[in-house]
Amino acid sequence: MQSWPKTDFHLHATFHRLGTPQAEMTVPNIVQRCEALGYEAIGIVEHLNLTPKHPLRCLEELVASFRQTRSTIKLYVGAELDIFRDALPLDEARALKERLGLDYYLGSVHDCVTAIADLDAYLAAYHRRLMFIVTEVDLVDAIAHPWTFGHSLARRGIIPRWRFGDVPSAMLVDLAHAAAAHGKAIEINRNAAADFVDLAYRAFVGLLRDLGVRLAIGSDAHYMKDVGGTTAQEALLQEMGVPPRQIWLPGR
Ligand SMILES: [Zn+2]
Ligand SMILES: [Zn+2]
Repeated sequence: MQSWPKTDFHLHATFHRLGTPQAEMTVPNIVQRCEALGYEAIGIVEHLNLTPKHPLRCLEELVASFRQTRSTIKLYVGAELDIFRDALPLDEARALKERLGLDYYLGSVHDCVTAIADLDAYLAAYHRRLMFIVTEVDLVDAIAHPWTFGHSLARRGIIPRWRFGDVPSAMLVDLAHAAAAHGKAIEINRNAAADFVDLAYRAFVGLLRDLGVRLAIGSDAHYMKDVGGTTAQEALLQEMGVPPRQIWLPGR
């Protein structure tokens, strides 16, 4: 039987950003830490969007550093593509993936705040955006942290409350089937850990498992203390009987 592949495809090399760069979060430092933690394959990213914090040259420098980094573990490089907020035009993102030789794009819907009038409006807008990425944006390989922003929106009082179970199950069923049909991986992000006890979240993961959707594991680490933040995701997926072959790696 195939052994469980310890992976993390959402590690931000935040050394490569303007404004608040993290001195320790260089590509070689992240790789070294992941080697020590026993990872089999990892992916390094930064955000790719039009905000001043993330000029293109930062991603170019990250990729240059990546190309010089050697390791005993399988290394991949990609970017987290904002599809709706300060988004790079998709044809530019496509050309860049090619030019920089990126292994993958995570596609993200972030806070979606502009679309919020009330909880129902938020649910509809967020769902529409996720579905757009899955069905229309073929250059995205994996959907980052679906539905994890509700907690922070509720904390900030932007929506009245949040539980994963507030997402209508029909939306989750749609998303899962679309991911299966379009060959997109769905990420199980550390920031969803609060939802792991929610039966609705487990039902969603169970459906993804049963449909054969690949599951990407991500810590979303921006700081060194968060590198290694995949154990809760691994435990959940193992407990739910997700077979090792269903854990996503870029290009398969
Ligand atoms: Zn994100
Ligand atoms: Zn991220």
